[in-house]
Amino acid sequence: IRILLLGSGGREHALAWKLSQSPLLDHIFVCPGNPGTAQEPKTTNLADVNSADFPALVDFAVKNEINLVVPGPEQPLVDGIESYFRKVGIPVFGPSVLASRMEGSKAFSKAFMARHNIPTAKFQVFQSSQIDEAIQYVKTCGHQVVLKASGLAAGKGVLIPQTQEEAITGLNEIMVANVFGDAGSEVVIEELLTGPEISVLALSDGYTIVPLPSAQDHKRIGEGDTGPNTGGMGAYAPAPIATAAVLDQIMRESLRPTIDGMRKEGFPFVGMLFTGFMLTSSGPKVLEYNVRFGDPETEALMLLLDKSVDFASVLLACAEHRLDSIQITTRPGSSVTIVLASAGYPGSYEKGKRIEIGGVPSNVVVFHAGTKQSGQDVVTSGGRVLAVTAYAPTLKEALDAAYAGINKISFEGKTYRRDIAYRALKDVES
Ligand code: ATP
Repeated sequence: IRILLLGSGGREHALAWKLSQSPLLDHIFVCPGNPGTAQEPKTTNLADVNSADFPALVDFAVKNEINLVVPGPEQPLVDGIESYFRKVGIPVFGPSVLASRMEGSKAFSKAFMARHNIPTAKFQVFQSSQIDEAIQYVKTCGHQVVLKASGLAAGKGVLIPQTQEEAITGLNEIMVANVFGDAGSEVVIEELLTGPEISVLALSDGYTIVPLPSAQDHKRIGEGDTGPNTGGMGAYAPAPIATAAVLDQIMRESLRPTIDGMRKEGFPFVGMLFTGFMLTSSGPKVLEYNVRFGDPETEALMLLLDKSVDFASVLLACAEHRLDSIQITTRPGSSVTIVLASAGYPGSYEKGKRIEIGGVPSNVVVFHAGTKQSGQDVVTSGGRVLAVTAYAPTLKEALDAAYAGINKISFEGKTYRRDIAYRALKDVES
């Protein structure tokens, strides 16, 4: 199997790490990749092809006999990359442009959920020209609201106003001042839900669904889940709160109807469906769909896959609609990933700090995210720099190993949360 993997973050390093262990793998080309992917066996970074130039990627793939394309981020999927490769007969582990609307348009995904009776927050959609109607709705709907720019906003397009005045200000920001640009040309106003959140990443070939262990992430920069949102400061899997009964209900009420509904409506889902749930007092409700691997959930999940899982074959089986013939086993313990960020992130931060990585424990893998090669050195080049990931028989041991690994890593401004998985540890102990 010859793979073209697109992206340059910790998620893509984790994918390259697992894929490179596949017995059937011939080679992985990562575009653009990072210094971490460059270290993996049978893996080469592609520096001279622009990852946003789809015809150039197709040209490379044809010339290099690629037979599986794995896009990491959502943007190329929403931009329709799958059809470029489909036209030349190269399978893609990732959804079509139509199926990618489940992430690319929250107005679309909410209407889909309503059509298929998938549990989700009550909602209404407004166009930016309908500011007066939107304000009227907020005043009369009788519940606290969440405001969402419908389009892609890099995880920043959600406002949770505390009062009705704040909600009206938020509507003006999104619909009139266009703070989220085109992403806010449609707005979803939702009912505020409460409860713990979990993510379920599930492989699908359009028919069969294979969920991986549930995960929880930490979005806020500060300990105790405080301060501004980030791309994610850490994650762990499985989430102790997601019992077998909860996961069974999620499969029955949400995941199965989603995959069946998408196929029946003519846009079957192939790839990794990443669904965010809130576990409310009236059952699990879908907060959002993402149509690709999550970051940093993927880093934790790759270590949970059994060593025997030939991941390249699994992804190819999805792209070829024969996932039913594949066995995917996970290890029984826990996995955790802790992000090391640059000082100042998610605000402005300095780059170019030299990174030194000493001997980390044998059950720890250090995935690169915002790093780059500078002569002989690897230096920081982004907000999220490394994802330090550990697997162990218990969550506590995995956390201890990851933090021991962090102590062996140094760069100026190294910033991380010391409380990853604090809620889960309480759940495990109680
Ligand atoms: P992400 O970065 O997760 O992709 P996003 O911009 O696509 O984010 P959502 O996942 O829909 O947006 O919402 C982001 C966060 O806002 C959720 O993880 C959740 O904490 C909160 N949230 C969203 N919808 C609701 C809701 N109806 N009630 C309460 N909180 C919500």
